[in-house]
Amino acid sequence: MLSEITFRRIAVAGALMVAVSALASTTAIRGTLVPPVVGEALRLALASGGTVELELDEGLELTMRDPQLAERLWEVRGRHQEDGRLVVEKIFTVKDGELHRVTYYCEICHITTHEPGLCMCCQGDTDLRELPGE
Ligand SMILES: [Zn+2]
Repeated sequence: MLSEITFRRIAVAGALMVAVSALASTTAIRGTLVPPVVGEALRLALASGGTVELELDEGLELTMRDPQLAERLWEVRGRHQEDGRLVVEKIFTVKDGELHRVTYYCEICHITTHEPGLCMCCQGDTDLRELPGE
């Protein structure tokens, strides 16, 4: 009787630990973008074969859909869902084997933003700048 209760407690604790570790683990995967289809989620084609569907917030999605970056190798970090999608938290481009942060810069206002589009200040064009480092 006592041993059965103890066993159950261990089983519950074990299940909780598995759940916590699944939540806590961030995965990094590298690949190139499958040519985007309007209205469909972006997919990353892995070097090992196969693709992973990405779930991105609006800013990250705009960046990954930037035509200037269509040929890039990406490293995306996030959490795998049970259905196989990756909820993305960070994205980097990989150039010469090094991680780069994707930024957009307005020469006039000296403002850096993290998504493509017009400058939030002067509404002028922004320049893509990939900065080495994480
Ligand atoms: Zn500006």
